[in-house]
Formats: sequence, structure tokens, C-alpha cells
Amino acid sequence: MRLRNISGSREIIGESKFVVQEPEGKKGNWAGIFGNNNPIHIEIGMGKGRFLMDMAKAHPDINYVGIEKYSSVLLRAIQKMEKMESMEKGKEPLPNVRFIRMDAESLTEVFGQEEVGRIYLNFSDPWPKDRHAKRRLPSREFLARFDKVLDKGGHLEFKTDNEGLFRFALEELDAAGWHATKVTYDLHHDREMMEGNIMTEYEERFSSKGNPIFKYVIER
Ligand code: SAM
Repeated sequence: MRLRNISGSREIIGESKFVVQEPEGKKGNWAGIFGNNNPIHIEIGMGKGRFLMDMAKAHPDINYVGIEKYSSVLLRAIQKMEKMESMEKGKEPLPNVRFIRMDAESLTEVFGQEEVGRIYLNFSDPWPKDRHAKRRLPSREFLARFDKVLDKGGHLEFKTDNEGLFRFALEELDAAGWHATKVTYDLHHDREMMEGNIMTEYEERFSSKGNPIFKYVIER
């Protein structure tokens, strides 16, 4: 989801109250950002943020942090938050949502040990060339980073319509010593795993074309 470079997006992000600026300084102190001790769930590669915002509306007692690499994409999420705020006449629309603009490679510099209760990977970029495998978010390299920040009782959830990426992701679990407790090759026809499912932008787009959605859940 690489939108065209939108001029000024970095400046808008740098001034947005919905974005955590210099997140490295918040490591170990995310409760302070939200002003409560609610669990912190993160989506890595959140795109325009629809999933994260819908989750935050459905679960006000969870704090959600969306991580996105590209300013031009994150800008769209900020604009949605601003629109909601103006519709609510200035009242903060979702106090349990914050964004970070960064590459998830820096995750362990931003979250402390076991500071994160749940990690969502939704429709992660497939990086089809073998030499780019390390850039895939469900790769063993990223799992090692997740291991450092995820609570020992935490969850990792991964959804995609890309069968090759999903098979790769399942193989990576073994190598990393992780184990999926739930796996489906057709989420939208799996009644148990569909319970409480919130669609992402990509999920809506691809499932409406008839693509099956794959998902795994890891409960540590
Ligand atoms: N999760 C959204 C959804 O399901 O609709 C967006 C999916 S889009 C295909 C993948 C997003 O992940 C893109 O916006 C991309 O910029 C972001 N992304 C990819 N690699 C990333 C990384 N290493 N760190 C942060 N964001 C990343």
C-alpha cells in the first residue's frame, strides 16, 4: 500500500497528537502514554488504520498502537481520526489509539520486555523474492523481535490471502520454536475463528473477490 508521496505528510505526522513522537523514549512506559494500565495490543503494518480503529471502538479497555512504515499511508489514518474528532465536536474520538511511524525492525527499541499483550499482522507485504525473506513480517527474524516484547501469556495473530506467504509463515514458526494453536485456510467459513472478527481494508477487498483468507493464532 504505497500511496504517492504526499508533500507535507512528514510535517503533519510530526505535529499530530495521535502519533507518538520519538517512541524510543517511551519504552517501558506505554502505560504513561495512555494514562492507564490497560493491555497494549499492536498492529504492525496497519495501513490506513481501519482495523485498529474498529478494534478500539469494540474494545475500549484495550490500548491499541498502530505501526506503519510509510508517512503517506499513516497520513490517511491521521485524517480519519481528525474527521472523527470534528464530527464529535472536538471530543477525543478514540483515546485508546495511538500511531507510530517506523519500520517494525525497531520494535525492540520502542517496547520493553513483555510490554505488548497482542500483536496483529494483517495482510503483510509478501516480499516474494527469496533474498527478501527476512523482510516478511512473519519471518523467524521478526518472530525473534516479537519474542522480546510479547507478554508470555500474549497472542500473535496473522491474517493473509497470500497462500505462499501463509505456508512460509507456518514453516517459520517451527524454526522459531513457536506453535500455532489455531489455523484456518478459510477464515470466513470457520465459524469459531470468525467470532469477533474485524475486517481489515485488504481483507474486505480480497474476500469480496472470492479469495479465501488464511489465519493463524499463537497463544503463548
Ligand atoms: N494491515 C492493513 C490491511 O490489512 O488492510 C494494510 C496491509 S498493507 C498490504 C501492508 C502495510 O504494512 C503497508 O501499509 C506497509 O507500508 C506496511 N509495512 C510493511 N512492512 C512494514 C514494516 N517493516 N514496518 C512497518 N510497516 C510495514
